[in-house]
Formats: sequence, C-alpha cells, structure tokens
Amino acid sequence: MGEVSGDQLLWFLEQGHAADKREQLAILATVGGLGDRLGAVPLGGIDRCILKTHLDLITPQEDVIVVCKCGHCGEELEFQQSLLEILENSGQTEPASTTFEYDGQPYELRLPCLHDISAEGVILQNLNPSAPWSDEGFLRAAGEALSDADPTLNLSIALRCANCEEVFSDRFDPAQFLWNELTERAKALLDDVVVMAKALGWSESDIVTMSPERRNLYIDRLSA
Ligand SMILES: [Zn+2]
Repeated sequence: MGEVSGDQLLWFLEQGHAADKREQLAILATVGGLGDRLGAVPLGGIDRCILKTHLDLITPQEDVIVVCKCGHCGEELEFQQSLLEILENSGQTEPASTTFEYDGQPYELRLPCLHDISAEGVILQNLNPSAPWSDEGFLRAAGEALSDADPTLNLSIALRCANCEEVFSDRFDPAQFLWNELTERAKALLDDVVVMAKALGWSESDIVTMSPERRNLYIDRLSA
C-alpha cells in the first residue's frame, strides 16, 4: 500500500477512541490493507503489516523514538530506532503452526491470531487445547517455540543505559507506535479541515481528498 489517505485518517480517528488491544490491531491492520484476510493472519503477520504501514508513512531513513526506563538505575531513557532494521530482523512469513518437544513428547501449537486475544493477553488454550499450560516449564518452552516460529511475535530491541551502562532489551510494540503516529496525523488533518472549511466554505471531502502539499499551500496562505 502507499500513503494512508486523508479519508483513512479520519476513519481511523472515528474508530480509535476507547479501543482495546484487539480492536486496535484490527483497526491498524485495516488501515494497512489486510482487510478481509484479517482473521486468517497470525499476529506476527499483523505486526509486519503494521510495520510496513508505518514505513510508508515516514521516510525509511527516519527513526522512531523509543522511550523507556532503565530497570537497573531507573533512569528515563530515549533511543532512536530504525523501523527498517526492525522489519528486516523480523520473520518474513508466518507459519500457521509449529511443533516442539517437551518432556519427551511432541506438541503442536497453532500460531495465535486476532481472535485468540483477550483483555488478559493471548488465550493459550486456543493454541493447543490439550497441552499442559499450567506447567511453568511447558509455558516457557511453548513461548520460545512460538518466538522461534515467528520472531515478529516477540520483537525486542537491545538497549544500553547511558547512565549506568546496563545492557537490557525492551519489548517493541509496532502497534503502539503506529497508533501514536496515526493519531497525531489524523488530529492535524482534522485541524486543517476545520480551518479551511471555516475560512473557505469547502466541504470535508474537498479538503480531505486534496494532496497534503496542496492543503499546506492553503493553510500557509490562510495563516499569513
Ligand atoms: Zn541505568
């Protein structure tokens, strides 16, 4: 897909408030063009679609800013992170299932999809109803098997604290980053629509279907 259109941005703003994690992913994947295939694509594939959508919105060389706290000294940290690099390090395709061995026995796990998410996270029983999910060791092994099968499921970035030199890794959530970016853009577009409609009497669709460059020409003139 190319740029997210003005119409999609306003649609996003309309859907976006009060959405939970599962709704957020569905909304972002729709903006990214997954549409009808949404239910069939494992979460890793949805995250990849989201990363690609985000890359379409920014210039590929541009970094995103990751803000986190050092777990060792508590320092607030800010890092620049290349989305392109994250996408390149993620898996290229998402398998539908994976098999691994635990305690001498083979287990098959289905890779989680959107309908496997609840407010508490992934519903593990869905991935294999007869597996011993209450066994801590099994839980760890299953988590590793899922990450190995699709690295995008568990994206993390390696960081070093500028204050205490602690090296640690932080989970990277592509959805949250695209969500923030789209929110910012959609609100800016809404502001432009209000300013131009008020001053020029044009309709929402006239203004929204205009290229951002042309819109800026008018906004600049109006604020001169
Ligand atoms: Zn630190």
